[in-house]
Amino acid sequence: MAAAGIRVHKLGGSVLADAASIEQAVQAVVATQAEAAVVVVSACAGVTDTLHEIARYAAVGDVRAAHRMLEQLYDRHREYADHLLPAAQREQTAAALGQLIEHAMHLCRGVAYLRELTPRMHDALLAFGELLASRLLADVFSSLLGSGVLFVDARDCVVTDATFGRARPQLPLMQQRLRELGLLEQLQRGGLLVTQGFVGATPEGMTTTLGRGGSDLSAALFAVAVGAEEVVIWKDVPGVFTADPDYMPEAEPIPMLSAAHMRALALAGARVLHPDTLGPAMEHGIGIRIRGVRQPTAPGTLVVAHWEAPPEPLALAWRTSCEVYTAPTPEAARTWTSPVELGIISRMGTLLVTESPLAEPPAGWESWRRPQALLSLVGHAPERWALSMVEHFLRARLACSGIWLGDSPAVLRFLVPQETWPEAAQCLHLELLHYRHAKLSVAPAEG
Ligand code: ASP
Ligand code: MG
Repeated sequence: MAAAGIRVHKLGGSVLADAASIEQAVQAVVATQAEAAVVVVSACAGVTDTLHEIARYAAVGDVRAAHRMLEQLYDRHREYADHLLPAAQREQTAAALGQLIEHAMHLCRGVAYLRELTPRMHDALLAFGELLASRLLADVFSSLLGSGVLFVDARDCVVTDATFGRARPQLPLMQQRLRELGLLEQLQRGGLLVTQGFVGATPEGMTTTLGRGGSDLSAALFAVAVGAEEVVIWKDVPGVFTADPDYMPEAEPIPMLSAAHMRALALAGARVLHPDTLGPAMEHGIGIRIRGVRQPTAPGTLVVAHWEAPPEPLALAWRTSCEVYTAPTPEAARTWTSPVELGIISRMGTLLVTESPLAEPPAGWESWRRPQALLSLVGHAPERWALSMVEHFLRARLACSGIWLGDSPAVLRFLVPQETWPEAAQCLHLELLHYRHAKLSVAPAEG
């Protein structure tokens, strides 16, 4: 068993948007725990989308466009290296980045030659975003911390099935590989491993990816595989808030959440954590802490398997521009089963709320035509606080298409016409804060 106290840190996306933010992210990890840690790196902001585009150019035979974009990716990472590394180390890093770009160019030539982009080649190409970012970060960590830093190719240890584009990792094989490669020992001796999120390989070594946003899942898997104490997901916002602070500046951080509430929030539209991440970590009793790179000492939000939250609304999340369908009868609503891929957000009574229009609504189902927003108040025991929230909302006389309790055990929902959602969300969020503050002020002091 690995030593206690190992942490897995996940960095990626908007936290790696330019040289300054990369530096901030690296410093946040160093300030928190630079020893006995795994750093799971996903691609820098926007890079995976760019690679998707590159793949499309290659697939139609436009090698020049694909290569030009790969050169731009090289320039971008090279520029970060120049900013972040001491002069003596830059060339070596640049050479490693250049080699990766060369491989990607080869691959694009192959795709363009065949004019066929197989899922296997697509995965091989997408993986370069993570390979570039992790190479760069490993070298930045080395320049700060020295010899205890080890670059690990996730394809050597994250063993998956061959479902390209959405590969499923095989934990026992992953654990075996980590042991064989001596990586557990390295961690126990205080090493810092830097590896890629999102990327794995079949037992035969074919590169796979875990699906969009899959780096959070990688971080959770590494945590389970090495017996870590905690996964730290670094974000540009310091934790989960009572509402998205980009829209609601008065939103407040939530110190602790149960996995069920976190999942309900993610499904309701909060873009905090990939919902798949929770399973493996929670099953093994590993907490997931969401922290902000700009406030590295703030405790953030801890997500744990079980936590008896007080009966109050915890957070508001929303999905906008939803399609709504009415079933012809309650019986039809109950009996119609639909594949999840339809983007179904919620089934409420005879209503079905979806993310995008159904290609073929079942016979007799009617589309509302006017887009709606679904606002979800997530919290423990909603039946205890629903009435006061609903009363407040109705007093504000905002447009409302429906209110539901019970389609999910931890959620109270408000369906409103799309164009009115900002006021509706504001109204509900302020009442949520009001409720929390009132509760806090009367709560007995804890012993
Ligand atoms: N880079 C991948 C993506 O953008 C994986 C991740 O960010 O988690 O989907
Ligand atoms: Mg990403």
